[in-house]
Amino acid sequence: MSYEIIDGKKISLQMQEEIAAEVKAFTAKGGKIPHLAAVLVGEDPASQAYVGSKVKTCEKVGFKSTLVKFPSTISEQELLNKLDELNNDKDIDGYIVQLPLPKHISEHKIIEAVKPSKDVDGFHPINVGRLVLDLPTYISATPYGITQLLERYNIETSGKNCVVIGRSHIVGSPMSILMAKNNKFANCTVTLCHSRTKDLKAHCLNADIIIAAIGKPNFVTADMVKQGCVIIDVGINRVDDASLPKGYKLVGDVDFDNCAPKCSFITPVPGGVGPMTIASLLKNTLLAAKREIYK
Ligand code: NDP
Repeated sequence: MSYEIIDGKKISLQMQEEIAAEVKAFTAKGGKIPHLAAVLVGEDPASQAYVGSKVKTCEKVGFKSTLVKFPSTISEQELLNKLDELNNDKDIDGYIVQLPLPKHISEHKIIEAVKPSKDVDGFHPINVGRLVLDLPTYISATPYGITQLLERYNIETSGKNCVVIGRSHIVGSPMSILMAKNNKFANCTVTLCHSRTKDLKAHCLNADIIIAAIGKPNFVTADMVKQGCVIIDVGINRVDDASLPKGYKLVGDVDFDNCAPKCSFITPVPGGVGPMTIASLLKNTLLAAKREIYK
C-alpha cells in the first residue's frame, strides 16, 4: 500500500508563519507583544535543548521570551516563590516549567502553583477540567499538535476506532479525551491502552488510528497494524548508533520501516509530532496574550 508521510516539520513551520502574521496584526492594532517565560531547573541536556528551541522559536515569531534558570539544588519553596512572581508579572502572558523536576520537588505542587490563565502547557487541573467539559482552555501542546496534524492532512476520524497507547497526563490521557470529542477531527471510538492492557495486539489490529506514546523504541510492530491504519508516533527514544557523530539516533515507538507499508498515513521520528509541540505552545501563548481563554 502506498502511504503518505505526515510532515510535522512542514506543518509546524506553517503554524509558526500563521502565528507570526497574527502577532503582527495584533500588535499593529495596539495589542501587546506576546511574552513567554520558561523555567528550567537543573542541567539535563534534553531539557536544556527543548527549552532552548522553545525560546529560539519565540523570537522567530515575534514573541518576547524569558528564560529563568535554577540549579537542581533549588528548594521547592524557592521555586514556588519564583512562580508567584511570574504569576504576578503583568508583562508575562504565559509560562512553562520544564519537566521533569528534581525528585525533591513535587511536580503536582508546581503544576498547581501556575496561575491557570498563564498555564500555556495546559497542565493545571483547572485547564484539564475545562478540556474535559468542552470549555475554552489551553490544550496541552503535544496532544493539540497531533489534532492539528490530523486536521491539516484532512484525515477522516469520525466513527473510527482509535487506540491510544500510553496514559500519561501530558500525552496519552488528554489525547484519548480529544479523540473522543464531538467535533469534526475527532468523534472516534477510543480505547486507551497501557502496560496492564491484555492482548494489546488485538486492540491494535482493530484500530483505524494508532497513537503511540509509550517511550519504548520500535514497540509497535507490523503484525499489530491493520492495512490502511493511520499511525501517529509520539515516542522520542535515543538508540545507540556508533556510526553517527553523536553516538546515538532518535527513533519513535513504532517500527516505521515495517509498519509504514501497511499504513495510509504515518508520522516519522524525528520530523513528525516533535516539531508540532513547540508550534502548539506558541499558539497557546498567543491565546494568552490576546486573553482569549481567560478574559
Ligand atoms: P510516560 O512514561 O509518562 O508514559 C508511558 C505510558 O506507556 C504509560 O502509560 C505506560 O503504562 C505505557 N506503557 C509502558 N509500557 C507499555 C507496554 N508494554 N504496553 C502498553 N503500554 C505501555 O511517557 P510520556 O507519555 O511522557 O511519553 C511517551 C513518549 O513520548 C516518550 O518517548 C517521550 O519522550 C515522548 N514524548 C514526545 C513528545 C513530543 O513532543 N513528540 C512530548 C512528550 C513525550 P502505565 O501507565 O501502565 O505505566
